[in-house]
Amino acid sequence: MSDSMDLKAKLGLDVFKPVSNPHIRIRPGMEKDPRLKRAVMVCPAGLYSENERGEIVLDIDGCLECGTCRLACGVEVLDWNYPEGGTGVQFRFG
Ligand code: SF4
Repeated sequence: MSDSMDLKAKLGLDVFKPVSNPHIRIRPGMEKDPRLKRAVMVCPAGLYSENERGEIVLDIDGCLECGTCRLACGVEVLDWNYPEGGTGVQFRFG
C-alpha cells in the first residue's frame, strides 16, 4: 500500500457489515453533555456530529470499533459494546 494514501482512502479499503442493532449508543438524556463533544474531535471515522439543537448525534455506519470515544467520553454518557458476531468492520491491509 502506498504511504501517500490519505486516511479516507485507507478507510475506504475496509469492509463494513451493517449492524442490525447499534452497538454504541448515546445514553438517553446525555445528548448535550459536554463530554460528548470530545467524540466529535477524536473519532477517527468522523461519526459524531453536533446538530442544530446542540445535541451530539452518532451515525454508527463505518465504526472502526477502536474504543476511542469510550475512553474520551466515558461510559456514563456512552453505552459501548462490540457489534454482534459477523457484523461491523473487517480490516483490510492490516
Ligand atoms: S469506536 Fe472508534 S470509530 Fe467507532 S464511534 Fe467510537 S471513536 Fe468512532
